[in-house]
Amino acid sequence: MDNTEKLHSITVGFPEVQVFVKKSKKAKRVSLRVSGANGNVFLIVPVRVSMQDAENFACEKVGWIRKQLVSKVEKTSVQHGTILPIGGVPHKIIAGYGKKIIFKDRTIIVPFKRKSFNSGLKAFLIELARQRFCERTDYYTKLIGKEYSRINIRDTKSRWGSCSAEGNISYSWRLILAPNSVLDYLVVHEVSHLVEMNHSINFWNEVETLMPNYKEFRSWLKLNGERLHSYQF
Ligand SMILES: [Zn+2]
Repeated sequence: MDNTEKLHSITVGFPEVQVFVKKSKKAKRVSLRVSGANGNVFLIVPVRVSMQDAENFACEKVGWIRKQLVSKVEKTSVQHGTILPIGGVPHKIIAGYGKKIIFKDRTIIVPFKRKSFNSGLKAFLIELARQRFCERTDYYTKLIGKEYSRINIRDTKSRWGSCSAEGNISYSWRLILAPNSVLDYLVVHEVSHLVEMNHSINFWNEVETLMPNYKEFRSWLKLNGERLHSYQF
């Protein structure tokens, strides 16, 4: 079920969910399957059913797909010994002495005796995300000569980022776990909304000007995004 390389895929809903299409001679009706291992979504389409009907079916079920993704994707409870990606690079959480959380050389040293181990580590990562998002947002807004009002860092499952008409930009802190270029793509996406408050062709042109290879990072997010939510603090 996980060999997706040769499969055609479609996207449904917004934020988009990638759905891999599997034509089936045996299947009697269109159905959806969500892999618990990696959150890949498959649309099983009997050969006699048209792609349009199958796509409509997937679009109608997007709410169901999202629920499955949240409940089925394997959860990793974060503790000493857990390998946590930071900027997409695996970091091992190791026990240390002292009071501070230290982040270096592919390790995160979390004090062994710290009572609030999980909430402390989560707060540390949120702060790390805030710093990076502020830095990158400043960089890209200067590049296009626009200004934003404020940056909010959130922990939302429904979206990775948003930009209001007032220029308030929100980001999900969990993107600090993704490769840096994926976090940058989100910044480019939201900053481009300061120019175009929609997802028109002009908007995507703006994104492409700032980041010519943005599609690569957008697909990374579609494919792996759910996994960023699998870490439990
Ligand atoms: Zn957008």
